[in-house]
Amino acid sequence: MNPNYLDELNERQREAVLQIKGPLMIVAGAGSGKTKVLTTRIAHLMRNGVDAFNILSLTFTNKAAREMKERVEKILGGSEARNLYIGTFHSVFARLLRGEAHRLGYPNDFTIYDTDDAKSVIKTVLNEQNLDDKHYKPNFVYNRISAAKNSLMGPAEYQHDYYVQQEDMRANRPMIGKIYELYAARCFKNGAMDFDDLLFKFYILLKQFPEVLHKYQHKFKYIMIDEYQDTNPAQYEIIKLLGAVHENICVVGDDAQSIYSFRGATIQNILQFEKDYDDAKVVKLEQNYRSTKSILNVANEVIAHNKGQIEKALWTNNMEGEKIKLVRTMTDNEEGKYVADIIAEQKLRNHYDNRDFVILYRTNAQSRSFEESLRRKAIPYRIFGGVSFYQRKEIKDFLAYLRITINTRDEESLKRIINYPVRGIGKTTIEKATVLSNEHNITLWEVLERGREFGFKGGTLEAIEGFITMIQSFKAILDKHNAYDVAVQVGKSTNLVKELFNDKTTEGLARYENIQELLNSIKEFTETPTEDGELLDKSLGSYLQQITLLTDADQGGDENSDVVKLMTIHAAKGLEFPVVFSVGLEENLFPSTLSINTREELEEERRLFYVAITRAKARLWLTYAGSRYRFGSLVQNEPSRFLEEMPEQFIDRSYAGGNNIRSPFNSGGGLWNNGGNNMFDRKKAPTSSGTPATSSSSSSSASRPAPKPTPPAGNHVPTPGFAPDDPALMEAGMEVEHQKFGFGTILNMEGAANNRIATVNFPKGGGEKKIMLNYARLMIV
Ligand code: ATP
Ligand code: MG
Repeated sequence: MNPNYLDELNERQREAVLQIKGPLMIVAGAGSGKTKVLTTRIAHLMRNGVDAFNILSLTFTNKAAREMKERVEKILGGSEARNLYIGTFHSVFARLLRGEAHRLGYPNDFTIYDTDDAKSVIKTVLNEQNLDDKHYKPNFVYNRISAAKNSLMGPAEYQHDYYVQQEDMRANRPMIGKIYELYAARCFKNGAMDFDDLLFKFYILLKQFPEVLHKYQHKFKYIMIDEYQDTNPAQYEIIKLLGAVHENICVVGDDAQSIYSFRGATIQNILQFEKDYDDAKVVKLEQNYRSTKSILNVANEVIAHNKGQIEKALWTNNMEGEKIKLVRTMTDNEEGKYVADIIAEQKLRNHYDNRDFVILYRTNAQSRSFEESLRRKAIPYRIFGGVSFYQRKEIKDFLAYLRITINTRDEESLKRIINYPVRGIGKTTIEKATVLSNEHNITLWEVLERGREFGFKGGTLEAIEGFITMIQSFKAILDKHNAYDVAVQVGKSTNLVKELFNDKTTEGLARYENIQELLNSIKEFTETPTEDGELLDKSLGSYLQQITLLTDADQGGDENSDVVKLMTIHAAKGLEFPVVFSVGLEENLFPSTLSINTREELEEERRLFYVAITRAKARLWLTYAGSRYRFGSLVQNEPSRFLEEMPEQFIDRSYAGGNNIRSPFNSGGGLWNNGGNNMFDRKKAPTSSGTPATSSSSSSSASRPAPKPTPPAGNHVPTPGFAPDDPALMEAGMEVEHQKFGFGTILNMEGAANNRIATVNFPKGGGEKKIMLNYARLMIV
């Protein structure tokens, strides 16, 4: 336990922590310790006798929630922090809905549809309505429905709202209200909620069932919300309802970092807070502990171009630090190469680890050139967000089996796998069954269950019955077995894994490996304490909920591994890194073409740029390319207008072309007039400003030890020609190699011939592990 946690705070921060009762709002700039205050406040509440079960803390990403829990644990010691309700809005409400959804007519084990699933339901609806999906683009429709839900507008309200209807008419898409209605009905029938439903339905639950509202109002005596500026109307209303009795609501936010207005978030929430709560106390934090003076000065000056902000004067005691580097490259590929070169150079020069770097871009599609150049230089990296692992076809197929096992109403999943692998249930059969399900108003599953009754015959009936029996056999083991056991059973009975294993093409192999990876991750899930900490619920239902709620920023796996991170600026919110590359600073890309039509849009882009700059602790590079391929053709780019808004005295401009980094850069436009002060000349020794300033709580990067050469466990590079051996050949005492855990010794073998399990000790791969030989690949060495 750390009894001195209050000493680590400045006076204002302490004031906010000590104010336990009543509504409290902390409005403060980037890096001023908002999140730190929130965390300390939770610990402080608990130190003062508040039960962890009574604290609700809502954050932006699961990662932030995890970190918060860890920090609270650090202050308090012990494991009480496990009982806190800390999570994203979506994950916390999903968890609460698991106990309440039946009241709204959903199964408590409802399926959560991700964006892809939702769009696929929309496509089904469009098809049935004979609407052209080129005109009613599923993406567009989805966004409209999403915006409606986040404004707490159901299909009926939508269709009766004059302004909304007018907007759809203007967009020449008058049917969206109808599609919304059918979409919502379809999701309900499927027993599924999309992401926005997790908020919307939870709100409806609180409104319609006073006893439920009462229960949670009394449970959550203390409510805390990080990144309050980005809460949307649905979130805002829920918080207001939950906090109405005790009014112990503490919100922290920064209007300058509001970057989600396109999703219905509005900084009005910040302005409204004082109006909602007469006795609200407002604390401002103005000292930044994160960044150097140079970085902060640039950030402050950029954001000053926005009108109408809450006045704050952010300053820092940190050292001045290096100037911000502004670099132009010829092409996007050279931009990628340049950034990789600098990372390699900085690792040598300033002893940074890979994890100290982040590359931030405006859109996921920009990651490619950085990936290629990092790979070429053998710098390990990880992309957060983008096309996620869970969106891959083979993974979605496998997960569909797991989902249908949990919730047979889930028609999307059912259709996905009913004839995969091929089992003789053709398109006509599925269409016929769908029509029957609509006619009789029962689920597709029920139609299939009663296949004989509905007149299916012969081979088709046999196939249907076989399928139903198989899924039922999975359901039968749900109670007694954890997620992994069920998944293994599914893998075996469906032949999915075997099919992929037999497909020896490169793609087949990659798919097989992805399934292995999925099984590994399910195994890992069953072996580690749950996210929520309260229950050690390792059931399949609990697993599915967890993976569907991973946010962009959470994807990409273990955030502690030593890799360079690549992500969008949106995903980087709240995070900090010693070295930041904010890339692609070009007109039409950043600010985005879509966001330069109104002042509001442009200001939001500028806030996004402010977020990017303020992620940096010590060093910041801003890059842009003269030309890049976009949508298949080469486009010439002007530098971003934001670059002209930065104070000249804190900027070093240069030009990187080809393999050389040249400077000074003198080009037309009057923008580039570098005086020759170039820190990229590799022959030059580091200048005195080469010591990074960091916040006082972390050690200076300059005195960091050089990175260790041993790769961490999990990064084992398999022996070339790695080929798994037949499980039948394996016995205790043998030396084996695992693709991921490295070399090890078999300690024990158990299980039947087709289900052999080896207990293996991997000295460099995390010690003793049980390996299912049907799935994991072991090679005898
Ligand atoms: P953002 O707006 O980006 O979310 P924030 O206001 O939440 O930032 P934190 O992430 O809480 O800021 O803090 C920024 C950094 O400053 C962290 O490394 C934190 O540990 C450090 N810090 C905050 N307050 C203090 C303090 N009083 N003394 C020393 N370090 C501090
Ligand atoms: Mg924060």
